Amino acid sequence: TSMTNPKYKVLMSGAPGVGKTALTNQFLTSEYMNAYDSLLNDDDSMEKSVSVLLDGQESDMDFLDPESSTNLYDDKVWEASAVDAHVIVYSVADRTSFEKAVDILFELKQSDITKHHAIILVGNKSDLVRARIVATEEGKSTASSYDCKFTETSAGLNINVDELLVGILTQIRLKEKCA
Ligand code: GDP
Repeated sequence: TSMTNPKYKVLMSGAPGVGKTALTNQFLTSEYMNAYDSLLNDDDSMEKSVSVLLDGQESDMDFLDPESSTNLYDDKVWEASAVDAHVIVYSVADRTSFEKAVDILFELKQSDITKHHAIILVGNKSDLVRARIVATEEGKSTASSYDCKFTETSAGLNINVDELLVGILTQIRLKEKCA
C-alpha cells in the first residue's frame, strides 16, 4: 500500500458463519489487488488491507475483522459513520442471517448513514443451490427498498467476489462525489 493512495474503511457485518472471513480472504487474493499487508492488533482482531487499482486510480481498502464487527453498534473504534462502506452479508441458506442483515440495514437507515455511505447487501453461499432459502428476488427487493446495492456471491467457489470488491470501491467513489 502507498501513503498517497486514498484509504477507505470497509466494515463487513452480518450474522456469524455467513462467510465474512471467507469473502475478506478472497478479496486479499483478488486479481485487482496489488499488494496487501495484515497486522495483528493488540485486541487480537486482524485488520486486512488491500490495494485496488480501478480506472487508473489506486485505492487502499481496509477490512475490519468480522469477529469484532458482529455487533457493529458496540464497536467504538469502527463507528458506523467513520466507515466508508458497509458490506452486510447473509447466507442465502440461512433465513435468520437474512433477518439479521435486514436489522442492520434498518439501523443504518435510522441513523441516516445510508445517504452518504456505500451500503452493499450481499447474499453469500450462492453455491448452496439445494439449501437455498432466501430467493435472489427477496435480497434484490430488500436492497432496493433500503436504497443499497445488492449482489450474490460464493466465497467458497470464488464466484462474483472480484466484482463485489470492485463494486464496493465504485460505490465509495460515487458517494464521495455526492458528499
Ligand atoms: P464468518 O463467521 O461470517 O466470518 O464466516 P466464515 O467466513 O468463517 O465462514 C463460515 C463457514 O461457512 C465456513 O465453514 C466457510 O467455509 C463456509 N463458507 C463461507 N463462504 C461460503 C460459501 O460461499 N459457500 C459455502 N458453501 N460455504 C461457505
